[in-house]
Amino acid sequence: MHKRFPMGPLPEDLHRKLLNLTTNTKTAGAADAEKVDVKSSFNGETIGTVLSGTVEDVEYAFELARAAQQKWAQTPIEQRQEIFRAFHDRVLDNRELLMDIVQLETGKNRASALDEVMDVAINARYYANNVGKLIGEKKRPGALPIATRSVEQHIPKGVVGQITPWNYPLALGISDAIPALLAGNGVVAKPDSNTPFSCLIAVLFLYESGLPRDLMQVVTGSGTVVGSAIADRCDYLMFTGSTKTGRILGRQVGERLIGYSAELGGKNPLIIAKDADLDLVMREITSACFSNSGQLCVSIERIYVEEPVYTEVVNRMKVAVEAMKIGSGFNWDIDMGSLINQTQLDTVSRFVDEAREHGARVLAGGKARPDLGPYFYEPTVLVDVPAGTPVLSDEVFGPVVYIEKVASLEEAVEKANGTSYGLNASVFAAPETGRKIASQIEAGGVGINDGYAASWATVSVPLGGMKQSGMGRRHGPDGLLKYTEIRNVAEQRFISMRGPAVISRKVYADAMVTALKLGKKLRFLP
Ligand code: ADP
Repeated sequence: MHKRFPMGPLPEDLHRKLLNLTTNTKTAGAADAEKVDVKSSFNGETIGTVLSGTVEDVEYAFELARAAQQKWAQTPIEQRQEIFRAFHDRVLDNRELLMDIVQLETGKNRASALDEVMDVAINARYYANNVGKLIGEKKRPGALPIATRSVEQHIPKGVVGQITPWNYPLALGISDAIPALLAGNGVVAKPDSNTPFSCLIAVLFLYESGLPRDLMQVVTGSGTVVGSAIADRCDYLMFTGSTKTGRILGRQVGERLIGYSAELGGKNPLIIAKDADLDLVMREITSACFSNSGQLCVSIERIYVEEPVYTEVVNRMKVAVEAMKIGSGFNWDIDMGSLINQTQLDTVSRFVDEAREHGARVLAGGKARPDLGPYFYEPTVLVDVPAGTPVLSDEVFGPVVYIEKVASLEEAVEKANGTSYGLNASVFAAPETGRKIASQIEAGGVGINDGYAASWATVSVPLGGMKQSGMGRRHGPDGLLKYTEIRNVAEQRFISMRGPAVISRKVYADAMVTALKLGKKLRFLP
């Protein structure tokens, strides 16, 4: 049973174990490497250190991962599945320890940390259960019935690169690696320097569950050095982070012609129709907007409310948000924790101050809370935000949402879609109205009577961004198949594709035309 640690440095033995898992500590330059302090967002205290990586560290990580991957690709699928099923149980059984580390690094509340644990477990289960079906060899109808025996094979790409941000360091640090590994790949991962330990503890659990050592390498360090060196060497790149960095990496991997999946920014809308159940709205809306203090790519930053219910929504929203308990610590009763660091606090403060200067009204929140910790900011709701205010269109990535009145659902949809982003959207309405609106929304995920959790946790369906919110998808079949190359093997038997040698080309051509017509009519061709 995990004994809760105090709010301070990680226990020395655990810290050493995690640090020694990084590739950085295994390379020749380790002794001279620059150290990076990892700080707790709750109080700014150092909880541990990692090494700042170099191109040589990344080079070595690929060497190790490539060697391990050669053997791994030959390992029977059942054996791979067993490792990830054991990992699933280990993650759930050790959830308290995982949540403690996640909370210490990020400053988030316990419920948001639990979301991360659950995410890792459900991805491990889903992909362990489905990998065989997904990558198993499939017989396909061949070009010439009977004469062409065709199979589709999926083979691992090789070594997948993964670059992740600080906001969901456990979930994003591991959940996308799971399908990559199960499909037979190695992984070289770079966690964000603010939050390396959440990823490392999960990698430790993977090893303890039986994953071959070396198959997953974690290199700590900066994005421009380590991240960029990974993008230069990997066989496929999985990135989660800002649209700005996503573009840089897109150019880099485009030059190398390798596959790329990126989940980027969002400015996610939520529509409240006049037939919505407002009690339900009020139960869900604070977590839709303020989970992990709004530092969540799929969380809500814009709310459009149909006129007849606008005043009631605004009044009730004020009460709901002002009742939220913010603070630090491991207790379950805290509704919202800290922001990650000073940069985030500055960004959030700037958006709210600018909105005030433009004449927006702060309905709830609107200020930093240094009494609670260095980076705390209140959950904030803005109304009457004038056109041209940056918060209307730019992603805050913090606990700031605005509410706007709309005259009709058509206007709500138009406004919801009026952005360059398309990651997540939500609609609260009677089911039929909700489905009708959802079908018009330009976003990779849409929740009906739910903020984001239902679509995110439905891991059997691919999820990602339309427009500038990304490319490629995680989850579902696509979330694993993207890490594979397809080999189309066609075996020609009995008759050549060019026809039997004894028949003239003209006769064969006429026969083929007749066969094509018949094949279409009688549906014996695919
Ligand atoms: P955020 O604003 O969430 O920090 P970023 O896109 O800046 O988003 O960072 C997400 C991840 O990408 C981090 O691990 C960061 O170190 C890494 N990163 C940042 N810039 C680059 C870059 N030029 N090349 C590769 N990785 C980068």
